[in-house]
Amino acid sequence: MTATFDTEMLIGPSFVAGTETPETVLNPKTEETLIELPEASVDQIDAAVNAAATAFKTWARTTPVERSTLLLKLADRIEAEAEAFATLEALNCGKPRHAVLRDEIPGVVDCFRFFAGAVRIQHGMVAGEYLAGHTSMIRRDPIGVVASIAPWNYPLMMAAWKLAPALAGGNTVVIKPSEQTPLTALKLARLIADIFPEGVVNVVVGRGESVGNALINHPKVAMASLTGDIATGKKVLTAAARSVKRTHLELGGKAPVIVFDDADLAEVVEGVKSFGYYNAGQDCTAACRIYAADKIYDNLVADLASAVSGLKFASANDEENDIGPLISARQRARVASFVERASELDHIEVATGGKPASGRGFFYEPTVVAGALQSDEIVRREVFGPVVSVTRFSDVDDAVAWANDSDYGLASSVWTRDISRGMATAARLQYGCTWVNCHFMLVSEMPHGGLKQSGYGKDLSAYALEDYTVVRHVMVKNG
Ligand code: NAD
Repeated sequence: MTATFDTEMLIGPSFVAGTETPETVLNPKTEETLIELPEASVDQIDAAVNAAATAFKTWARTTPVERSTLLLKLADRIEAEAEAFATLEALNCGKPRHAVLRDEIPGVVDCFRFFAGAVRIQHGMVAGEYLAGHTSMIRRDPIGVVASIAPWNYPLMMAAWKLAPALAGGNTVVIKPSEQTPLTALKLARLIADIFPEGVVNVVVGRGESVGNALINHPKVAMASLTGDIATGKKVLTAAARSVKRTHLELGGKAPVIVFDDADLAEVVEGVKSFGYYNAGQDCTAACRIYAADKIYDNLVADLASAVSGLKFASANDEENDIGPLISARQRARVASFVERASELDHIEVATGGKPASGRGFFYEPTVVAGALQSDEIVRREVFGPVVSVTRFSDVDDAVAWANDSDYGLASSVWTRDISRGMATAARLQYGCTWVNCHFMLVSEMPHGGLKQSGYGKDLSAYALEDYTVVRHVMVKNG
């Protein structure tokens, strides 16, 4: 089994094994060990950053079309190996393979293709004589070595979201996947080494407190990019403050879903069933916090509970599964403790689910927690599991105020047949994204990123390219 995985890190031109404490990488569906992977040493991290710093000198001076050509080649290679990537990601994360193949791999490929195009058509202010006798122009230049730190929920996709705009912009990268899900990044490293000049991308593995921490504190790292927890984001900011590094933070979420009386109930139920539970709810945009208007509330809870109880997981035939397990025993215990505390409250009704599934694997039953109040922990904290709360509202002002009353500000949705009401409500929400009559839909052309403690980095879109480059002014005195 072990022999089938790529296990070595990419440091400069070389594939090398980590030399430090091994991390156990599990199959969350079976709880079996897939591999013990030694993490990078301080010297290896240093070598990776140095390789990136050396490569930056030439990579930063390549033309957009040169960078674009290599990004397109990488996209083609990933597409050609879509099946193998999907198998590996499904194995390491426990998610249904068909969902990875259908949803994630095409998104990964498109992300590289999008930035390959976007870097060739960047826009900016026109050059001109803003001071008589002097011509000014705007440049957009790369920043330097980017330390990219990815989470475990969509390992390959998060790697793509970080690598594509950074590389398109002319930066070099040292990327660290989550210690729980390093396998697709290590496979990707093999393709990258075939395509990109040495040192442009380096892949190191290991834990956050050791390898991640060394990366974000490295003096030659000019920018740190993290998708992860708010607590980790704060550590990145503290490290960045020491040497004034740039940061790109995509932190958690607790997406509100406002459902008006006139919403199409069947569509709402289908939408929340799909996007509240997708990836077992381990998604920072998960439709997990419903505010339902009085007249639709009872039917919504009943229909949602019935639909959600039909979600398939843990079937031996993976093709039948809608969702997978949680990533770890720890994550499942965390999810279970949220639901246990909620169910102790008199006003809460667990309409379906509510406990860990029996048998092997870190599965948790898809759960609907009805009767939740705005002050409840289940409404306020990110559960990151297959758990959706439903709260009743009578007044739209309450619904909007409750939706905004959150530390998070990543994603939200509004459901109504009255589009002007949908637009008006969307305008009042303090979220990086608001969907109307849908949820969770991402396209490479549009930005994904948050407000408040969800962070401020934009992934995808031309805005990500802006985040990974710096605006410069060059002025020439004429004559
Ligand atoms: P995490 O913060 O624990 O880990 C994320 C990454 O940070 C991992 O690679 C980890 O090794 C690293 N890390 C941890 N401590 C570190 C440190 N001290 N220094 C440097 N690196 C460190 O988060 P997670 O548990 O892997 O992922 C789940 C979280 O990510 C959730 O809160 C979720 O909402 C968030 N998330 C956000 C988005 C988004 O786009 N906003 C997307 C996916 C996940």
